[in-house]
Amino acid sequence: MIKQLDNNLYTFEIPLPGSPLKWINTYVIKGNPGEKNLLVDTGFNRPECLQALLKGMEELQINPRQTNVFLTHCHSDHTGNAPALAKLGCQVFMGATAHQLQLRNTWPIKHKRALKEGVSQSVLKRMFVSNPAIMYAPEPYSAIELQEGDRLNYGGYNLSCVSTPGHTPGHMCLYDEKKKLMFLGDHVLFDITPNISIWTEMPDALGDYFSSLIKVKKMPVVMALPGHRTTGNMTMVERINELFVHHRMRLEETENIIQKHPGLNAYQIAGKMTWKIRSKNWEEFPPGQQWFAVGETMTHLDYLLARGRIDRWEDKEGNRTYYVEP
Ligand SMILES: [Zn+2]
Repeated sequence: MIKQLDNNLYTFEIPLPGSPLKWINTYVIKGNPGEKNLLVDTGFNRPECLQALLKGMEELQINPRQTNVFLTHCHSDHTGNAPALAKLGCQVFMGATAHQLQLRNTWPIKHKRALKEGVSQSVLKRMFVSNPAIMYAPEPYSAIELQEGDRLNYGGYNLSCVSTPGHTPGHMCLYDEKKKLMFLGDHVLFDITPNISIWTEMPDALGDYFSSLIKVKKMPVVMALPGHRTTGNMTMVERINELFVHHRMRLEETENIIQKHPGLNAYQIAGKMTWKIRSKNWEEFPPGQQWFAVGETMTHLDYLLARGRIDRWEDKEGNRTYYVEP
């Protein structure tokens, strides 16, 4: 169902079958006569998502040839249908760093690190046996690459590109200063917490995420447009403050676990953290969710390590364990 948010500004949902995210919010700015339209984010590369996307575009009566597509970041639930839209005549735009990332396979490096951090081969295999991020990823696609400060004008909206690395390298929001409106992608979500995971391109992903939160907190936003779910009744600043509190508590929890149980690896530490997932125990966690949890734990460990709050020991085989200095 299409919802009008403001003059020329619309949104509709694309279902994400099998994903706990449930759906993605696609946004459309209809161009003024003679202008192109802008569509933000596209859903997984699977038929149900493409169908919903095309139906939304049809209802809004926007012609792909007259439509530019902006992708906030490289995750498959946002980029999946970019090649299909390009084939129909849309022009695709994306932050340069994010676009370069999707041209190469970053999974082998992540898997190699996970093995060093206590994830066994069999657990790793199970985590990725039906991972939607991989199964529904798009084929490599070309895009016009954007940089911080680049401007996009459609339908009376003057948007500037705001680089917000953290959730992914090269994540980009679009900001209309006059209208105090921001397309957020997954940088700030309101009733779920954006997952912060490991990337070789971001050795301190959580530190980068914090910097990007501070950056957008300084920008007045009245209309926050998140990539998933809704904003509820919360303002952007309130939500950013909450996200800081959440991560600070997680960092403290991580440090306390290491203090109590020195010598654990990241997989074991993740198993001792509290997660909002219904499961009897850590071993029986849904495998996909277990990967998110281990990824999140590793970025918290990286953050603490970079600030000298914990130590990491690596044995001859490269297996890592964590300690707190007495
Ligand atoms: Zn997403």
